[in-house]
Amino acid sequence: MIIDNHGREIDYLRLAVTDRCNLRCFYCMPEDGIQFLKKDALLSYEELLRLIQLLSLEGISKIRITGGEPFLRKDLISFLTLLSQIDGIHKIAITTNGTITLRFLDALLQLGIRSFNLSIDSIDKERFTHITRRDSFDEVWACFQEMAEHPEIDLKLNCVVMADQNIGDIIPMVLLAEDKDISIRFIEEMPFNGDGSFNKETHWNYIKILQHIESHFGKAIKLEDPKNSTSLNYTIKDFKGSFGIIPAYTRSFCGSCNRLRLTPQGTIKTCLYDDGVFNIRDIMRAGASDAEIVAAVQEACAHRSKDGFEAEAKRKFNPLVSESMATIGG
Ligand code: SAM
Ligand code: SF4
Repeated sequence: MIIDNHGREIDYLRLAVTDRCNLRCFYCMPEDGIQFLKKDALLSYEELLRLIQLLSLEGISKIRITGGEPFLRKDLISFLTLLSQIDGIHKIAITTNGTITLRFLDALLQLGIRSFNLSIDSIDKERFTHITRRDSFDEVWACFQEMAEHPEIDLKLNCVVMADQNIGDIIPMVLLAEDKDISIRFIEEMPFNGDGSFNKETHWNYIKILQHIESHFGKAIKLEDPKNSTSLNYTIKDFKGSFGIIPAYTRSFCGSCNRLRLTPQGTIKTCLYDDGVFNIRDIMRAGASDAEIVAAVQEACAHRSKDGFEAEAKRKFNPLVSESMATIGG
């Protein structure tokens, strides 16, 4: 078992399998000048499987596959097939931008993968194109419609709320849950955009997002939040689905955080807001034994920051705004 220095059990790994992406959401990465990692800088699938096998023996039971855009990494389905065969891994979830996901859906369902977070920041084609700087709305919308047709899929839509960009989408997006059993999750924008700018003054925090929704629908009905949930969950009277608000920048959920993050190049992060605790790829490639690998992860978790504010204050190298979320995985 991995228990951190604040008594929190860590059972969830968020795995960014690539830093590459076919969109350029402006809150996540700059449009040009990105130095993508070379293939040998990435943890190989063999290295990942060895690591996850070891961590599963320590109680890691849930994996989220993210990126960059995870489906851009070659042979992802072969990797997921082997991953799904690891005994202790009970749940595999995927966060995707939906641009090319549909072509893999049958294979994913056959592997028993049912949990999808689909990122869509606007349901207005023009706004979507402006935010993502790419013309992929039709593909993403088709992905949403197809996934929503599958009752076995646990579908969540991720929408980053950005002042002066997609506020007009909030109400229409909540309405998507009126006759569909899905959850629309509104995420506070965080400063990880890789281009050095972030305006705190105009920021939409979770309170403002909820007030905006309630000003249209009246009082929302609070739902019980699942254990370790980062979202505050609600529904509207007579709606089939629900909506959630993720105080990602306010950081009010840190007390129950059960996550570990692994970047594509092998950096272990024990908090979204830290700048990396150590590089596990390097110790694996230097010949670390299984016991040494596990000990290194345990050691990192034994010195975990209490919350995202402490992790941010302890950053040694970079300000938040210089980091791109595509290398962290959300
Ligand atoms: N490409 C995939 C996608 O977009 O779903 C997976 C990776 S993406 C980095 C994971 C999640 O992080 C997405 O839902 C995205 O909206 C969110 N994200 C990225 N940058 C963010 C930021 N600066 N603030 C809040 N959420 C962000
Ligand atoms: Fe790509 Fe996802 Fe970042 Fe958008 S949020 S640029 S889709 S990695």
